[in-house]
Amino acid sequence: MNRTAIEWTDVTWNPVTGCTEVSPGCDHCYARTFARRWEGVAGHPYERGFSVTLRPERLEQPLHWKRPMRVFVNSMSDLFHAAVPEEFIRAVFATMGSAPLHQFQVLTKRAERLERVARRLMVPDNVWVGVSVETPVYYSRIRHLQRVDAEIRFLSCEPLLAALDDLPLHGIGWVIVGGESGAGARRMEAGWVRSIRQQCRSADIPFFFKQWGGLNKKRTGRMLDGRTWDEMPAPSTDAERLAPQCRPVATRTSDRGEK
Ligand code: SF4
Repeated sequence: MNRTAIEWTDVTWNPVTGCTEVSPGCDHCYARTFARRWEGVAGHPYERGFSVTLRPERLEQPLHWKRPMRVFVNSMSDLFHAAVPEEFIRAVFATMGSAPLHQFQVLTKRAERLERVARRLMVPDNVWVGVSVETPVYYSRIRHLQRVDAEIRFLSCEPLLAALDDLPLHGIGWVIVGGESGAGARRMEAGWVRSIRQQCRSADIPFFFKQWGGLNKKRTGRMLDGRTWDEMPAPSTDAERLAPQCRPVATRTSDRGEK
């Protein structure tokens, strides 16, 4: 497991690493930047850079974690990438289903394949499934997600690159919003964030504001209108029922959760 500074989870688990870009939200992909730094370094886990790499030796890792945690699956990849065989995706879901102590969070931009594969497997109750939506062009991802039979379906509007008016929120149980961070970060307007918060309020959906982002995200912080917004779906698993202490932890890895 890797402890992470991502505000809406506790740890990351990467049974797959590497990916390819699909949309403007990928332009400053933190995973790609990190992986390429180690490309060609013999013996390093990212020796193959950002090439899609299956890690079967990591499949059973969550079964050995004793403390209940929120687990962000594939922070360094996209589980529904075409290069990941369906059999492997099934194995990842089998592990998650066998680890009800933990709350897994699967986030993808490949919503079409998510829907297709999800028709053929059961999504365990301790798995939240989400799609990234950076501009209205990608509302189609939400349509695919809405057809997935999952306890919690969520949206990650990060990096938020445009106003998201009239979000199709039926069947959505959680919305995360965040601005892009790091060198070359694209600007996010406060009005875009407030609009999503208002839409969530109207639909009674938990709203999580992750960060303003920008070149120095520590300086810009994550306050919106005088407070933080850390709403999350109601507990759906043993993980939260058993562990009220299960809260995001401030430690570090390379990832920033802007998938
Ligand atoms: S942002 Fe996500 S989908 Fe895009 S390249 Fe990076 S890991 Fe892949």
